[in-house]
Amino acid sequence: MKTKIFRIIEMYKSQLESAKKNPELAKKYLNTKIQVKKARLLSKINYTPKITGIVSAKLEVTQNCNSKCVTCNFWKINTLMNEEPIDQEKLSFEEFKKVIDQLNELKCQSLQLIGGETLLYKRITELIEYATKKGMKSNIVTNGLLMTEETAEKIVNSGLHSIVFSIDAKDPELNNKIRGVSKAFELQTKAIQLINKYDKNNKIHKSINCTVSVHNAHVLNEIIDIAHELNIKEVSYIFLSTYSKEIKNLTDKMFGKPTGSLEFMTSPSLIPKDIKKLKEQKELILKKAKKYNINIKGQFLTGKIYDLVNAVKRDKNLFCMLPFKFILVDVYGYAYPCDMLRYKLGNIREKSLKKMFLSNEFKEFSKIYINNYKYIEICKYCPLYCPV
Ligand code: SF4
Ligand code: SF4
Repeated sequence: MKTKIFRIIEMYKSQLESAKKNPELAKKYLNTKIQVKKARLLSKINYTPKITGIVSAKLEVTQNCNSKCVTCNFWKINTLMNEEPIDQEKLSFEEFKKVIDQLNELKCQSLQLIGGETLLYKRITELIEYATKKGMKSNIVTNGLLMTEETAEKIVNSGLHSIVFSIDAKDPELNNKIRGVSKAFELQTKAIQLINKYDKNNKIHKSINCTVSVHNAHVLNEIIDIAHELNIKEVSYIFLSTYSKEIKNLTDKMFGKPTGSLEFMTSPSLIPKDIKKLKEQKELILKKAKKYNINIKGQFLTGKIYDLVNAVKRDKNLFCMLPFKFILVDVYGYAYPCDMLRYKLGNIREKSLKKMFLSNEFKEFSKIYINNYKYIEICKYCPLYCPV
């Protein structure tokens, strides 16, 4: 109970800090919060929150990946909603720009360009430049395998706000085994060095993501050494979320159409179970992070280890605001309220994002979501949730 109260206080404290830094954003968020509160109170008459702006968005530039990480489903499945290939045109560069224009109309301030592997999309730096011109802060996550001098220079000059590099172990052999690529470690660390080389004024926020699994649970602290060696000041430990097909099916049934993403349907056997060893790693991480002045993020440090080893992330009593302040557009143009709840709100080829928030699809989604949020099975396993 104490931990829960502490976490809620911490959350409000950090929201207050962000509000001080960006009052306009805070005002928009507060309006959305009032709308959602109203919708929850008036749920019996099916009041739909009136969403006039969003805080952040994700634009999927590819679903392909050149890694074969044992902890990930991306390279095994065809799309996050279908187990069969989809026979549809991917968005063109001009259409991606149109999405950015529409996000700008919704006053979106932060854009994450996502994959698969983002660098597989050849015009990624042009898209970053376009978003930057529109005043958005953009972010990419990369496995770094394709980073070259030329790409690094273009990325740095594109106005990118932040970049996340994924590395899973300091031992190259172990890292490469987890990533499923023989030279992964060498290429990943080179990618960081190249970005450092061109980002002379250290304008881009850089961090390392480490996915915690049964394979690297005993050496997690060594990621801090790599971060220190490569002058990276933030490390996030991502604890795996895994769920069964049954959980996806229950979610689909609740929403009356395919909704649950296939993203985290990886094997539960990948989750480390040795709580004592995890606690030891946690202590070592904190000690090293203090010594090297590295910021640590991720639920491994903030969540309860007992929950994490059971892959459970969300406290079901806390309402998640994400579907009302965020939108995800996939590479085929479909828009969804969040990564894990891929409830189709429409396709940008047929309807603008603004119109989607006024559509029957959004009304229907809001109604089901608001009335049932405690019982949405897939949400329990969600690492993204945004409690209020
Ligand atoms: S974790 Fe990232 S790099 Fe690895 S297979 Fe998945 S999408 Fe690709
Ligand atoms: S808890 Fe996760 S899956 Fe559920 S609505 Fe929030 S972000 Fe989406």
